[in-house]
Parts: sequence; structure tokens; C-alpha cells
Amino acid sequence: MNNFFIILAAGNGTRFKKKQKKQYAIYKNLKIFEHSVFKAIKSKLFKKIVLVIDNPKNVKNLYSKDLIIIKGGKRRSSSSIIALKHIKKFKPKNVLIHDAARPDFSLNLLKKIIKSLKKNNAVIPITKPTDSIKYSLKNNLYNLDREKTYLTQTPQGFNFDNLYKLSLNEKTSITDEASLFINNDKKIKLINGEKKNKKITFSEDLETNKTYFGLGFDIHRLVKGKTLYLGGIKIPFHSGLKGHSDGDVILHAIIDALLGALRQKDIGTYFPSNTKKFKNIRSPKLLMPIKDKLTRLNFYINNIDINLICEKPKVSQYRDKIINSISSLLEIDKKLINLKGKTVEKLGLIGKEKAIACEVIASIIKHD
Ligand code: ZN
Repeated sequence: MNNFFIILAAGNGTRFKKKQKKQYAIYKNLKIFEHSVFKAIKSKLFKKIVLVIDNPKNVKNLYSKDLIIIKGGKRRSSSSIIALKHIKKFKPKNVLIHDAARPDFSLNLLKKIIKSLKKNNAVIPITKPTDSIKYSLKNNLYNLDREKTYLTQTPQGFNFDNLYKLSLNEKTSITDEASLFINNDKKIKLINGEKKNKKITFSEDLETNKTYFGLGFDIHRLVKGKTLYLGGIKIPFHSGLKGHSDGDVILHAIIDALLGALRQKDIGTYFPSNTKKFKNIRSPKLLMPIKDKLTRLNFYINNIDINLICEKPKVSQYRDKIINSISSLLEIDKKLINLKGKTVEKLGLIGKEKAIACEVIASIIKHD
């Protein structure tokens, strides 16, 4: 094992447009560059790992004794040469060069590159573009044959001596080491890269938490002489739920679950019970504005799971009706909704059919 791993994290990331430099931005709970450091350590494939950073004082090496932290150059290509010169004394056989801005590569990709270096001097992971590509030349647009185009990723793997020579002779600034081999008519081996191994370029690329969960709970007292509403429909029963509105515990818990997932407070904030306006209001009318809010904020519902806690009525008898009602109120597929019935062994107010409670978990997804 005479492999070395160079992580380039010295760039300025001008397209990133945040005060903080891209390599230090938090992505999936870690600084971007840390993903590459941890993966390289975990792989146990490398004798030394070199982190090339804009300011080594910014990084305390708490990671591994095999990690070397050095200061990079002004450009990507100069940082790469600085790192190659630094490791020359170890007489490396292979070196992998990686942009820290790609934190999502797999350990398997590292293994594939190193395996392929047994027979090749340059191993480059690629993906095929799915968009059509045009290029312009002197104000004219031309089509590129998509079948013959490749997108190159990092890590890129090289025989150290080969890469070192080419790097020292290169006069222009290159964007990746594969370019050195191509510019010098040297053979490179293309292997399949990974779709998920995307480059973080813009600050929007950091948004990973697209699914949000919210929890809702509600309970109302059952009283004689009222109509029972559950999930927006009338249910024949000896009592109905007492409340400022129609007391529909299912819809109220759904509203709170959705507001929770949106991180927008609670049902009482939007529909205070001391306001006459909402007196005896049917709960679907409360649900509508929350549903609109969700749409307006670019979310859609992924899943709603409901526990209806009561001794009676029997949930199994009304399950389909209630689910159909919620599905049409929220305008979502029935398959996204689940309703479970839960009795309480005749305990307490619920057990004595004096109250009905409901809890809901909703998951919602943000789209662009
Ligand atoms: Zn309620």
C-alpha cells in the first residue's frame, strides 16, 4: 500500500457567494472538507492523506496522525503541485487527487480507482451528461454529440512519477489533472463515476434536509347532543366532541403536525379559541389555509400517519371513509395516509367514552 490521497481545499469558491469559504461550510453535519478526510481515513487505503487548505491554522488536526495539513497556492493547479512536491520524499507509487467540494464519493470508488491503477497510469471517473450540450464559437452555436462527451469527476488516480513530471512541465493553469494527460497525449483510463458524487458549487447545493416531520396531538371531551366529526366527516355516535370549533380531533392534530413540519407554531396561533370568528367553525375550513400555506412555501405532503385514540367508535368501520375524506381535503393520494385505531383498556376519560384523542405524524418535502 503505497497510495497517497491529496484533498484540495484551498479554493476561494467565488461562485459559492457566502461570507464563509465553501470548504468550511457545514454539509450533512460536517465541514465540507471533513467528509473527504474521514472517508480517506476510513478506507485504510492510504499511507498519508494530504489536506491542502487556504490557511492550515484554521484546521486542528484531530483526525489522524497520517493526515498532513499544508497551505495551498492561489490556484487549484498550484495547490496540487505544492502537495505533490510535499509527498515526493515518501516515494509514492500512486496518488489520488480529489476536490474537497465533492464530499459524496463512495469508498467503493476509491477502491475501484486504486485497483485500476495496477494497469493504468491515469484513472478518471466519468459520468455521461443527460442534458444536450451546445458550445459557442465566434457567436455561432454548435451541438456537441452527447454520446461522445464525458463529465470528469474526482478523485482521479495517477501513477505518481508520471503525474509529477507532467505537473512540473505544465505552464498553463488546469482545472483537473486529467487535462494534463490529455494535453500531453497520454493515455487515460475512464471508469464509471458516481451520480451522487456531485460537486458543491453554489450555496444552494448545501440544502440537504428536504424532508421535515411534524407531530400533532389533540383531545376533546365527548358530550351528548353534539354531532361527531372525525377527519372531516359525520360519524353516527351517541355523543359529539366539544370544542370551540366542531372538535374534529383528527383534523386538528393534522393541522398541528403540518405546522410542526413547517416550523410555523401551532393551531392556536392561527385560530385562537377566544375569537368569535371561529366559533362552531367546521374544521376543514381551518385545514384549508394551512394546506395553502404548505403549497405556498413549496412543500408537498409525503406521508400522514394517524393514531385515533378512543374506545368507540370502531376505527375499522370508518377507516376508508375517513381516509377518503382527508385525501380529498388535502388533495393527496389515499396511499399517503394511514389511520390506526387505539383503545385504552377502558382507562380514564377516553376509556369511559368521555373523550377522544388523536396523534399525527406528518412528513413533508420541500421542492424548488
Ligand atoms: Zn382540537
